[in-house]
Amino acid sequence: MARYTGSVCRLCRREGMKLFLKGDRCSTEKCAIEKRNYAPGQHGKGGRIKKKLEGYGVQLREKQKVKRLYGMQEEQFALTFKRAAQEKGVVGETLLQKLERRLDNVVYRLGIGSSRAQARQVVCHGHVRLNGKRIDIPSYQVEVGDVVTLAPRAAKNVLVAAALEAVKGRGVPKWLELDAAALSGRVLSLPARDDINFPIQEQLIVELYSK
Ligand code: SF4
Repeated sequence: MARYTGSVCRLCRREGMKLFLKGDRCSTEKCAIEKRNYAPGQHGKGGRIKKKLEGYGVQLREKQKVKRLYGMQEEQFALTFKRAAQEKGVVGETLLQKLERRLDNVVYRLGIGSSRAQARQVVCHGHVRLNGKRIDIPSYQVEVGDVVTLAPRAAKNVLVAAALEAVKGRGVPKWLELDAAALSGRVLSLPARDDINFPIQEQLIVELYSK
């Protein structure tokens, strides 16, 4: 599976906001948004006067922002949207729910990774057990009642320990339950729209893909 290998801070600067792609660094003054909050490239700072986005431009930026937030590639994101559109309910909300239910996101939300990229790596390297079974597919959709645990070897990893310490400040969403001592988490319910507190206007993404 292809993945973006460039500077992730550039992605935040392009979207003009923190996407929290680098874990602990994002909360320090070393964050690129704190130091250079303008678009990357020669037309960033001091470039041509920034044009006000409207219509397609606004919709495209919103889709790019959410895609980057969850660390996905275009095809994968479009496929997730297509599947959301095929289900009953409000398409935008179903899309967000599908993004939240990804196994790598659940691992991140539980604090077993300081960023979604790190959580994805934990999953890809086979360190995660879902209901006792090894699952190494980051896009795997969790269900209510699923139990996520860490393989014993990964539980001793210092990066995992640091991430679990960091989640104390970040908190775990109410649709998940973390047992930090046992290094496990349970899915209590499916994520609702108000469980996602990152500023997202999902309707813009629906409008973009409906063209
Ligand atoms: Fe984005 Fe984090 Fe880089 Fe700041 S440090 S620009 S929030 S990835």
